[in-house]
Amino acid sequence: MSFESLGLAPALLRALAEQGYAEPTPIQAAAIPVVLEGHDLLAAAQTGTGKTAAFALPLLQRLADTPATTRKPRALVLTPTRELAAQIDDNLRAYARHLKVRSTVIFGGVGMNPQINALRRGVDVIIATPGRLIDHMQQRTVDLSGIEVLVLDEADRMLDMGFLPALKRVLSALPAARQTLLFSATFAAPIKALAMQFMHQPREVSVTPPNTVTQLITHRVHPVDAERKRDLLLHVLSEDSRRQTLVFSRTKHGADKLVKFLEASGLRAAAIHGNKSQNARTRALGDFKSGRITVLVATDIAARGIDIDQLPVVINYDLPMVAEDYVHRIGRTGRAGAEGLALSLVSHDESGLLRDIRRLLDKDVAITDVAGFEPSAPLRLDAGAPRPKQGQRQPRQGGQGNGRAHGHGQSQGANGSHAAGNRKRQRRRRPAAKA
Ligand code: AMP
Repeated sequence: MSFESLGLAPALLRALAEQGYAEPTPIQAAAIPVVLEGHDLLAAAQTGTGKTAAFALPLLQRLADTPATTRKPRALVLTPTRELAAQIDDNLRAYARHLKVRSTVIFGGVGMNPQINALRRGVDVIIATPGRLIDHMQQRTVDLSGIEVLVLDEADRMLDMGFLPALKRVLSALPAARQTLLFSATFAAPIKALAMQFMHQPREVSVTPPNTVTQLITHRVHPVDAERKRDLLLHVLSEDSRRQTLVFSRTKHGADKLVKFLEASGLRAAAIHGNKSQNARTRALGDFKSGRITVLVATDIAARGIDIDQLPVVINYDLPMVAEDYVHRIGRTGRAGAEGLALSLVSHDESGLLRDIRRLLDKDVAITDVAGFEPSAPLRLDAGAPRPKQGQRQPRQGGQGNGRAHGHGQSQGANGSHAAGNRKRQRRRRPAAKA
């Protein structure tokens, strides 16, 4: 399969060659012909699958093939976070470098005026987060009456983040005769409802396996006492201090504290979270990408969708409260064919969270002690143990370690009593249809 055989124009093929893309990813191979034919598209694909190019390439081709009749924006991409918006814009510009297509990005947290000026000068493609786009709609600084193509990127995330009313408002301002492309990690019921209401006989493509975790990722857990976690993190990071590592923290405060600790220990680190200004986030991401810093500590929301190529390792300093977020976190590694390591430092009070994650992954997770950091109490991984409520600490119970399978290289797969839970989750997460 080649990009040529998908019917893409020479100007796009040239840009792709310059990007070093040799062949389309599965979502690109499935989606691009459907979009070029003009159909609405419902696509199940996560970040890391090449989904941005899957909509950006045919969208650019459509704009290039049919010259503009007005100066109004012709395509709108809605996405949940600022980082994603900026990234999509970067990708779009790279793919459009031999075309005359102008794009602009619109998100909150920065001034309105530069955005208003860009819109006034005239753009073909707007990449926006819903909230700020609505601000522009209210101020009448954007005209959406010429939109021919709408892309809803990470639609499930947008719904999770409460953007449904905003989406409906934007959708009602768009021409009914348009092409709509919806990308989502899953085809859960609310996504289907959105598609039913706002799309026209969409074709469905799905390339994500049920649990959407690439097989190229190795999952490893290091049990450790909570109070020794940061030392263990330092130990792990010091093993290869040149390696770019993304570290996840559950809280913003925790992320800041960790960065201070790492900096005091001589590592170059920065935090990225919701309390940081847009400029600080952009700078941290830029510094990380350029190698100026080697450790980026992020919270779940801030890290969602950030595009960092082929990160060899992602470390969960804290496990996420929601097992699904683990899948999003580790989506930052093992991308586009590269192998990755997802390393979790897990304290006893996180045993329940780890159980949930193992159940969701339905995959062996190697649990290994690190010499010198062995925990005083083992993780509790037996299926029967009650799961602690969110934020509720589990009492330490030495001696109840029958779920323990420590020992180097030893793996633990989900046992039989997890299977029913697995089946249920898979049903919920599995896309309804495949193209
Ligand atoms: P996305 O899922 O859109 O966030 O893309 C994930 C990463 O894969 C990005 O860094 C893209 O630049 C890269 N990528 C997308 N398509 C291809 C391709 N066909 N070959 C190689 N890399 C790609």
